[in-house]
Amino acid sequence: MDIPRIYTITESAHRIHNPFTPEKLATLGAALRLESGIRILDLGSGSGEMLCTWARDYGIMGVGIDMSRLFSEHAKLRAEELGVTDQVVFIHGDAVGYVAGEKVEVAACLGATWIGGGVVGTIELLAKNLCANGIILVGEPYWLRMPPTEDIARGCEAGSISDFLMLPELLASFDGLGYDVVEMVLADQEGWDRYEAAKWLTMRRWLESNPDDDFAKEVRAKLTVEPKRYAAYTREYLGWGVFALMAR
Ligand code: SAH
Repeated sequence: MDIPRIYTITESAHRIHNPFTPEKLATLGAALRLESGIRILDLGSGSGEMLCTWARDYGIMGVGIDMSRLFSEHAKLRAEELGVTDQVVFIHGDAVGYVAGEKVEVAACLGATWIGGGVVGTIELLAKNLCANGIILVGEPYWLRMPPTEDIARGCEAGSISDFLMLPELLASFDGLGYDVVEMVLADQEGWDRYEAAKWLTMRRWLESNPDDDFAKEVRAKLTVEPKRYAAYTREYLGWGVFALMAR
């Protein structure tokens, strides 16, 4: 079981697989006023940076589930590096439909809402794992500017314009589901640059080390077009944020 290989090539050097910088992640942790000892479940936990740093900085206990073998290994190494192996557990597995026996104070899914078949389904799944008055964290893109054409939406690697909402509509959609939006931290262009541009050097280095790999052609083609695609589309049109929700 694993995710498509292209991601484990392009994002192999990422600690954070979303447009948040380490500072934004810390800002989010501080904004949530996390108390020592609370439990956090993270579906699609990637390389574990959120749980590991929040375990170190705020004393949280965490369980992360991720389908990438490589990222799950990186998460375990990061926990060792930060000295938090007694606080966090990383499971390599499919988080679709994941409902744990024990309920948690914070249930999160950042940049992986396809796990619940979209934002609505992901909130439903996270809610099944949540204590009364617990906090749901959803990390999701939104349109900074409405793309004037479907081609531009596809340039942002969206399937279509309707894949995402503008920020006010996204916040209204949480309200419509019966949730209070109690906090939010939004990525900025600097964070997007760190997320996207970091892939380019990783691809370049990978190509140097793997010239005869079956994937080399695909990675070569991607590295050639990605900087222009990103600057023209994603950087201009797409926002990303983490929204903290509490059921009303
Ligand atoms: N939340 C992390 C990772 C976001 S990237 C962060 O913000 O850094 C999306 C992650 O979802 C990847 O790590 C990928 O391996 C994982 N993923 C994709 N499908 C999954 C599934 N069905 N179950 C669990 N993890 C999944």
